[in-house]
Amino acid sequence: TNLIDGTAALTWITSFSERFDSTQAYLTELDRLAGDGDFGANISSALERTRAGLPSSTDATFTTVFQAASRGFMATGGTSGPLFGMWFRDIAKSTRNDTASVADVAQGITAGLGTIQKLGGAKVGDNTMIDALAPASVALTASAERGSTLGEALLEAALAARVGAESTAGLIAARGRATYVGELARGVLDPGAVTIALFFEAGADTVGA
Ligand code: ADP
Ligand code: MG
Ligand code: MG
Repeated sequence: TNLIDGTAALTWITSFSERFDSTQAYLTELDRLAGDGDFGANISSALERTRAGLPSSTDATFTTVFQAASRGFMATGGTSGPLFGMWFRDIAKSTRNDTASVADVAQGITAGLGTIQKLGGAKVGDNTMIDALAPASVALTASAERGSTLGEALLEAALAARVGAESTAGLIAARGRATYVGELARGVLDPGAVTIALFFEAGADTVGA
């Protein structure tokens, strides 16, 4: 299939939530080393609210699933929750149909990247979620233009996001709380960027190449 329907979107969010749960302690440790250590708790509460607000599989459409994710994240304390919430909102808006195509997903993710950058002011290299999200967005857009399948497109995005997340080990923060520790956090991955990689890996796994 080359469309993500509501059921696939539910699986994507559920798989993202499971991947986050098994990585939460590590991500909290990263935020403890470079920030204030609340990252795991913030995102886990957002995912709990998201799961509680998800439509049933009979009612689910691509849009209603990502709207539930947006609402769940928007009401979260900390910097990352509302940024993810705005991002999911743009993803939800990418299609008017019950399903989303490769081009829809690429458009929504890129629009959401723009929204996060407008709100947070971070650019590539500032040691934030943008370092994973921007390359994933570029990869998705290129895949959509090539006419790749959804599975291929999400796999490319996942690989690009993972490389981008790993790149934050060598970066000194220019945005967010990690700017307070500066050079001391060199070698520490940005937890927001790793979470973006988890999201695309869950998507690639859900759709299959
Ligand atoms: P807080 O720093 O308020 O405790 P969280 O711990 O919830 O926030 O989230 C930290 C994450 O937020 C970082 O790992 C980074 O990816 C992301 N972040 C912080 N500031 C920005 C920004 N200006 N733009 C994009 N992402 C940001
Ligand atoms: Mg924090
Ligand atoms: Mg905090």
